[in-house]
Amino acid sequence: MRHAIAAALFLAATPLLAQTSVPDRLIAGELAGSQAYETLSHLTDEIGARPSGSRSAALAVRWTTERFRAWGISVRNEPVRVPHWVRGRESASIVSHNNQHLVLTAIGGSVSTPPQGITADVVEVGSFDELNNLRDKVKGRIVYYNNPMDMALVNARRSFEAYSRAVIFRAEGASRAAAYGAVAVLIRSVGSASLRTPHTGGMRYDAKVAKIPAAALTAEDAMLVHRLVGRGERVRIHLNLQTKVLPEVDSANVIAEIRGSEKPEEIVLIGGHLDSWDLGTGAIDDGSGVAMVMETMRLIHQSGLKPKRTIRCVLFMNEEFGLSGARAYFAAHKNEKHVAAIESDSGAAAPMGFTTTLKGDALTALEKQIAPLKAVGAATLDPQAETGADTSFLVEAGVPGFGFAPDPLHYFDYHHTPADTLDKVDPKELAQDSAAITGLTWILAEQ
Ligand code: ZN
Ligand code: ZN
Repeated sequence: MRHAIAAALFLAATPLLAQTSVPDRLIAGELAGSQAYETLSHLTDEIGARPSGSRSAALAVRWTTERFRAWGISVRNEPVRVPHWVRGRESASIVSHNNQHLVLTAIGGSVSTPPQGITADVVEVGSFDELNNLRDKVKGRIVYYNNPMDMALVNARRSFEAYSRAVIFRAEGASRAAAYGAVAVLIRSVGSASLRTPHTGGMRYDAKVAKIPAAALTAEDAMLVHRLVGRGERVRIHLNLQTKVLPEVDSANVIAEIRGSEKPEEIVLIGGHLDSWDLGTGAIDDGSGVAMVMETMRLIHQSGLKPKRTIRCVLFMNEEFGLSGARAYFAAHKNEKHVAAIESDSGAAAPMGFTTTLKGDALTALEKQIAPLKAVGAATLDPQAETGADTSFLVEAGVPGFGFAPDPLHYFDYHHTPADTLDKVDPKELAQDSAAITGLTWILAEQ
């Protein structure tokens, strides 16, 4: 009954648009009355940073679950085990050059230095090939990877490509250098040099070699080290990182659902991740993605319209520290019929469209249906091999993937840094983003 009234209100509220399609009306409805910024404000300002295993990550699970329930949407939690790494005190200085302070941050998962820290000479390399060539000079040293992000690619709006090229050193640099006897590694933070902000992220240790501490210098401090080394000077750094690896924690994915009226067994999945890094408050990564997909659920539910297919929203836990939420979801649901997986984990800015794994006739057919997304500048499908991390297991199993693509120009200047806070998100753009996702979700759910 409530649905019938809501549907009547939804239709009556837009008499001038009576001839327009449902996606047109959903998009207009979102732009007129978005609650996405309210959702994001609570996640970032009231709950704050949500690193996996933390109390605030647990609060985010509880609060988003309650918000779905308050909206009248069916919701449940499904268990996920997550790692619990804590940053602690961190500092560094160039002891060879007046003890100048260096601004850096531990890479997520890094082991601690001894309590008194590590002091060692620096060897700079620009690639893993160069590391191999200098292998005899690395023992007992701190290896510095000079890995600036390719800003030409960033400026060409190909930031994600530039990012994957730069972060290989963050992910594998420590173990590669440890194999030759290095005592620690430093990398250059990804993103452009601005306001001396360090950028963290995940890393992997190779079980076969010693685990050594790893940290990211701000781009500014990385350039300082690079200049000093470039002048042929001996550069000696003191580094102290007091990280902690605590026992794993029981956490959860939050799963909300609007059941399909004609093909309930066919699922259009929409998702973002609840966890964030600890330095900022996870506004663009990925509080905004969470707010957008929650908003899609609210809008469709409150419109009272019934999609033919089931729309399932998954707020994944622990994207940042090894995708355990994505793995748990895939293990539990891989035999269900997912017909599409839309992920929003690229921040909030003006919408540009979606990346997709669709090709050929399927792509052409969908391109013909997404004209309503033009209203928010998102009627573009860009074929890509990967469309998101949390949905990657589904996509590898053959489910068509879609990645929401807002303008990526400034994303990596904020993401994973202390600057990832609510003020970086424009409420109007967030509403446009939510409208774009709602439009595509509805279109896919009506096939
Ligand atoms: Zn991230
Ligand atoms: Zn993310």
